[in-house]
Amino acid sequence: MHRGIVLFGNNIPYTLSPIIHNTAFRISDLPYLYLTADIEPAQFKNALDAAQTLKFAGANVTIPFKETVLKHTTSLSDAAKKIGAVNTLYFDNGRILGENSDSPGFFKAYFNELKSLEDKTVLILGAGGAARAVCDTIITKTTPKKILIANRNTERSNQLIEHLRKVYDYNSAGSLSMETSALQETAGDAAGIIQTTPVGSGRYINQSPVAESFQFNKEHIVIDLIYNPLETKFLKHAGHFGARTRNGISMLLHQAAFSFTLWTGTTFPMDEVTPVVMEYIKQRA
Ligand code: NAP
Repeated sequence: MHRGIVLFGNNIPYTLSPIIHNTAFRISDLPYLYLTADIEPAQFKNALDAAQTLKFAGANVTIPFKETVLKHTTSLSDAAKKIGAVNTLYFDNGRILGENSDSPGFFKAYFNELKSLEDKTVLILGAGGAARAVCDTIITKTTPKKILIANRNTERSNQLIEHLRKVYDYNSAGSLSMETSALQETAGDAAGIIQTTPVGSGRYINQSPVAESFQFNKEHIVIDLIYNPLETKFLKHAGHFGARTRNGISMLLHQAAFSFTLWTGTTFPMDEVTPVVMEYIKQRA
């Protein structure tokens, strides 16, 4: 009998998590099946209850549930508590453990790029769950000089800045709007620009979070957490200026590996899964 693991998200047709995990389960000969639940926010609690009733082993949680899920967990790992966002759930006899694999996934994927951000200014686009995980990694692993957070809703970026002050004692974070002039003014000082919004994928596939007039430079390290498509409008735009660009596929695989081990207690077969996922992406394109 196979046990289910489900991804909860809203408007996530682009997700690659089922192909990643089901390939890993098959290669490792493990009796699990990974499913997607594309649900409305109002359905989240019922869907979570249903997964437990059906004795699922766990879940992933993505946009827009990474922060709202906190109140439904029974306990949180130290990392999830610190970050204030959860992307992985482990069900244990009616208990729900919340974990965050985005932060270690981000670190493993961009270890080399992050070394170049030491003591530099980093501009982050977005202030949701993924941005929280990114902030956790860059503060704890690279100690940036300054973090600037640009978000559509500035109340949310201000909350994140306050969180960084309280939890990490990090006092060099600032908030700005997504206006081109504000972004352009700060981009000159920034060594790294990290894009954590969904703009560039799914229903926003033809959009970019920055205007066409926005200017990158060739010193910029530009990371877009989006992995489908592999090259968003935003990354293509940065590439035209000679910036060093990275997409989100490596982070996706590394965060999946971390969650896989939590659910199954075994090591994720990264070397075997990666070519299957890359071939799947090529075929789909
Ligand atoms: P989230 O917690 O719901 O946060 C979404 C963020 O994006 C918020 O800052 C939100 O701004 C902003 N946003 C949403 N729609 C927008 C729009 N139309 N225009 C401008 N800003 C918009 O979601 P998340 O979990 O952080 O995920 C965000 C993205 O990162 C998703 O595309 C996800 O697939 C990707 N991601 C990738 C990986 C990976 O492994 N590669 C890992 C994690 C996340 P407001 O506050 O104004 O709503």
